[in-house]
Amino acid sequence: MLQAEMSAQVERMRRFFATNPHINMVSIWTLAAALTISPILACLLVIPIYAHLWLRVLRMVPGVRLYRVICSAATAVITVLAAWAAPDLLGFRDEPPGLVAIVLGGLTYFVVNTLLVMIGFKLHDSRRGFVSFIGSWADNVLDIVTLCLGGTTAVLLVVHPSLVSLTLLPAVLLPRGELGRQLEILADRDHKTGLLTIAEWSKRADAELSRARRTNDPCGILMIDIDHFKRVNDTYGHLAGDAVLRAVADAVQHEVRIYDSVGRFGGEEFVVLLPGIGQGHSIAIAERIREAVMKLAVVTLTNDGETTIKGVSVSLGVAVYPIAGSALDQVLGAADKAVYRAKHLGRNQVCIDGFTSS
Ligand code: GH3
Ligand code: MG
Ligand code: MG
Repeated sequence: MLQAEMSAQVERMRRFFATNPHINMVSIWTLAAALTISPILACLLVIPIYAHLWLRVLRMVPGVRLYRVICSAATAVITVLAAWAAPDLLGFRDEPPGLVAIVLGGLTYFVVNTLLVMIGFKLHDSRRGFVSFIGSWADNVLDIVTLCLGGTTAVLLVVHPSLVSLTLLPAVLLPRGELGRQLEILADRDHKTGLLTIAEWSKRADAELSRARRTNDPCGILMIDIDHFKRVNDTYGHLAGDAVLRAVADAVQHEVRIYDSVGRFGGEEFVVLLPGIGQGHSIAIAERIREAVMKLAVVTLTNDGETTIKGVSVSLGVAVYPIAGSALDQVLGAADKAVYRAKHLGRNQVCIDGFTSS
């Protein structure tokens, strides 16, 4: 609780800006408990820790709901039981816990927690792939660092309890460094859609085209513009328009690979970078996106209550390096021209470099 109080402000900001499953410092204390005290006491410890976390930290964060905190606490209880059982069942339980017990307990904690969080998130958002909930490399390293601290705390608790206070400093400083990293990532993201900003997208596109030049690979670029988007705003209001914008952004992101870059070019225009993808495949991906957008049913609140917006469509322009040109501006310009042609031909279609795809 002292640690949570000392990093309350930082923790609130981290939670507010979190996009992936949020990693908190609770596992330092719960793993230490699983390795040193009885399973019942270790599980009971989860209750005051999470109750305090909710009352003093998470309650003030917009968008954080009590049921999710209760789910996290329930996950922590199951994880603590598993981390307690692993060294116990394999006969490595010791006082103070030895290296094998700490590694076994920590590994079990990591695996069980990751799986439960993934299942929870999948139930919450079934459209996203299971693997997308694993979290980034940096997230997982942070998770492992907190578990190492938990193991050290367990030994200190038995051998020299007063030295546990030394664990407090890294436990308070870790989330601070993490907040800096989170803000760095956010600076590259468009706030409304979560896609890359055009500055970051262009940086990646430039790097990718340089690589394509070296390796003689193609690189596809898609320009996407929502059709008659002004009508959506005029009919349902700008907040509903924003919901449609986010839904289209999600649909585009969902239809491409993890190493393709999707950016917000401007108002209701998006750009997609498809490294290594040639003309035929780029058109197929554009068609897939067009079809996915047509299937959207965006549920949103308007002045008339809950409304479902259907029939959204996009016009897509495809251009491919090196066919459309060798510089990013040339390829992007060709994709833009193709979008205008798609609009001119009646919208809701894919055009390539001045020609329709069908
Ligand atoms: P077209 O099919 O020719 O593309 O028609 P359109 O209505 O989509 O195109 P137009 O360029 O006339 O209008 C784009 C609209 O997008 C106007 C602007 O109000 C709206 N827009 C741009 N950015 C945002 C945003 O962030 N949120 C909302 N709600 N609307 C936005
Ligand atoms: Mg436009
Ligand atoms: Mg438009």
